[in-house]
Parts: sequence; C-alpha cells; structure tokens
Amino acid sequence: MSDALPPCPECASEYAYEDGALLVCPMCGHEWSPDAGDDAAGDAVRVIKDAVGNVLADGDTVTVIKDLKVKGSSQPIKVGTKVRGIRLVDGVGDHDIDCTVPGFGPMQLKSSVVKKA
Ligand SMILES: [Zn+2]
Repeated sequence: MSDALPPCPECASEYAYEDGALLVCPMCGHEWSPDAGDDAAGDAVRVIKDAVGNVLADGDTVTVIKDLKVKGSSQPIKVGTKVRGIRLVDGVGDHDIDCTVPGFGPMQLKSSVVKKA
C-alpha cells in the first residue's frame, strides 16, 4: 500500500482527496471509487494463460501441445488434439480448464498443456 492517492482518471490531476469511500478531484470535479479500476488484488478475475502466454477465455478453442496420459485409458490425448468450447474453472490441483476432449469425454486440463487455436 502507498500513502499517495492515485491521480484523477479524468484529468490526471494529483490533487485528488478522499471523501468518504470516494476520491474527489478538485480540478475537474470527477468522483470515483478507489476500489474500482485496475486493482488486481482481492476478488479480481483470475487471468488464465496458455502455454505461450495467450489469455484464455470461456468458449475458446485450444490445441493440446503434448501427449497427455489419461487415467483409465490406454490411449493418450494426442498432441494437436483440438478442444472446443473450453470453460475456465478453479479445478483440482493446477487444472484450470474444464472441457470435453473429442474421443475422451469431459475432463479437466491444465492451461500449461494447451495453446489457443
Ligand atoms: Zn480531475
């Protein structure tokens, strides 16, 4: 935490002051909540990235970048397998993608083993 208040998002004035839960800019009269904006802490949306750093979103199509062993199956999910309509989840372990893999069915994958298609 810093003691300095953020500059006004409207006019970039550094003279903003606190008024209750709001910040007020005396230069342009803009009022805003310091909790909004680009504060990455707290309940901010988690950003999930693929193996090369692309940000993933619900509904994306991804490609598996390496053979993946599947519990209960003699066949691995082959590298290059396309998975459509992923859903980002807070899954077990590092698993953060919920999806249906063609030929295998619904399962969770790690974002580190896929690439956005
Ligand atoms: Zn201002």
